[in-house]
Amino acid sequence: MNDENTGGAVEATDISFEDDEFVYTVHINQEVCVGGGQCVFAAPEVFTQRDEDGVVQFVTEYPSADERPDIEEAIEVCPAQVISMTKKPKG
Ligand code: SF4
Repeated sequence: MNDENTGGAVEATDISFEDDEFVYTVHINQEVCVGGGQCVFAAPEVFTQRDEDGVVQFVTEYPSADERPDIEEAIEVCPAQVISMTKKPKG
């Protein structure tokens, strides 16, 4: 556990992780976020909301690959298509 970031959030709008086969990149488009927080509910280890306005932020730049199902759930439940994920083969 590392507590380097302040307030439990990082400024990045892209984060990535990998499993045995693929490198995944997760992107958030904060411009269109409506701040409902469903993503945080679905994947609390990955997403949080900015104190001031509820806009989504990442909790970490280096999520575990174990979070992938929760991230996919967050993508599904987000009402504003804020979150996207791409994958490409490793190597
Ligand atoms: S679910 Fe979507 S719109 Fe709601 S806070 Fe998360 S990213 Fe923003």
